[in-house]
Amino acid sequence: MTVEERLVEVRHRIEAAEREAGRTPGSTTLVAVSKTFDADAIRPVIAAGQRIFGENRVQESQAKWPELKAETPGIQLHLIGPLQSNKAADAVALFDVIETVDREKIARALAEEMTRQARHPKLYVQVNIGMEPQKAGIEPKQTVAFVDFCRRELELEIEGLMCIPPAEGNPGPYFALLAKLADECGLQKLSMGMSGDFEIAIGMGATSVRVGSAIFGHR
Ligand SMILES: *Cc1c(COP(=O)(O)O)cnc(C)c1O
Repeated sequence: MTVEERLVEVRHRIEAAEREAGRTPGSTTLVAVSKTFDADAIRPVIAAGQRIFGENRVQESQAKWPELKAETPGIQLHLIGPLQSNKAADAVALFDVIETVDREKIARALAEEMTRQARHPKLYVQVNIGMEPQKAGIEPKQTVAFVDFCRRELELEIEGLMCIPPAEGNPGPYFALLAKLADECGLQKLSMGMSGDFEIAIGMGATSVRVGSAIFGHR
């Protein structure tokens, strides 16, 4: 299969999962995760109509996306990888959505940069939903307080929550927990589901799925 065919196939699977869940077809945003692929590998996916992409590294993104964004209007770039505060300025300048706000220090750095640059990427809080030591994200039980802190102290608008469930086992309960936390925070957006589990995530209310290898192939 070509990358265009895989993109079409993923779109069909998303729509089937939406119908299966009794949701409106088209209610899930597809974020095509292009990390590790270069501009030449990404161009056919843009040509096939995809406009929303995810990357996990700021520096790697700076090497390819300014050019790709200049070529095609309407590209939306999501940062889905961990962010260091010394990269906050670059992230605010390049990304349209930052999905990995997960601690006070980075939230403060983003708030400062957004004011300085008068640029306001949308923000998601990343939750370490399986409480895995090797993963980034705020603890589930601290999520409500952290979202509250971002809103009150920093006057940041938080769009939704994001998670990466543990690699092993059924992700369903983790997706359900993220949905419950979002509800407690009064948030409508849920970024959850990857190549291996996006249909389950859609069934549990994902509003966006981050799909890499099912579109671009193996990394
Ligand atoms: C790489 C990555 C994805 C995409 O993973 P695939 O399994 O290739 O679909 C999604 N989310 C995050 C945070 C990632 O780093």
